Amino acid sequence: MRSALIGQQTVCFSSRRLNGPAPSVGRVIEQIERSGRDFEFVWDDGLVLRTELKRTGSWDLYRVGDRWRRKQSDATALIESTDWIAVCFDAAEVETFRSEPIDRHPSRGRVGPDLSDPYVDRELVVNAIIEHHDPSTRIREALLDPRIVRGLGNVYAAEAMWATRLSPWARIGDIARSDLIMLVNYASRILRDHLDALEDEGFVRLIPFEVYGRNGRACTRCKDSIGLTTAPPDDRPLYWCPGCQTRLDWRLLDDTPPAGARSA
Ligand SMILES: [Zn+2]
Repeated sequence: MRSALIGQQTVCFSSRRLNGPAPSVGRVIEQIERSGRDFEFVWDDGLVLRTELKRTGSWDLYRVGDRWRRKQSDATALIESTDWIAVCFDAAEVETFRSEPIDRHPSRGRVGPDLSDPYVDRELVVNAIIEHHDPSTRIREALLDPRIVRGLGNVYAAEAMWATRLSPWARIGDIARSDLIMLVNYASRILRDHLDALEDEGFVRLIPFEVYGRNGRACTRCKDSIGLTTAPPDDRPLYWCPGCQTRLDWRLLDDTPPAGARSA
């Protein structure tokens, strides 16, 4: 199920008894964890789906168009990508929640504008980055901070940084306002383009990603190999092109060793 679904956009989700918000079409599954009869699916926008199976329960995987091994009426939840359908049978519980701690503790501060809303004021996002209390924060961390911006997520943050050639390690205090405007505009457009492409039911026209899920393959712009590492804030996968995403890479700007490597 991991190799079929991770890194794929969700084309359809349905559940007969879901407790919580439904995963959005166009979002990408980044993690699938299993512990006994508990399954957890984590989408790139931070939504987590948890199912607890009954003794008779199972998660089955089918190619689109294949005949199911169990009755359709026994299905409790269904996740569909372009090629695969994962079907949950006989679940005792199907629930979703947000993984960002900020959403569980609203008292920790306000929540940023939702970039997946086409009418959002994008300048609010630019200003929130500029007004961040710590100018040494890496741009990727800022883009994944729900207090600054919501609705973007790990996948589209990576695509937007690639589009503007910004290094994910660029410090926000080093980035000009004009570059931030370009980044936020790109992020919003890439997000809308990908989500709109999936909106017409029955007509799936997926736009390929440039960096996400493409580690080891050639960058379409500079032919260098797309890199993969993990990085703060949450050690989610970071895809970037080391060949052409070098703008404001702090590692090239000075000789400051990474935190923890400094001698006493
Ligand atoms: Zn490149």
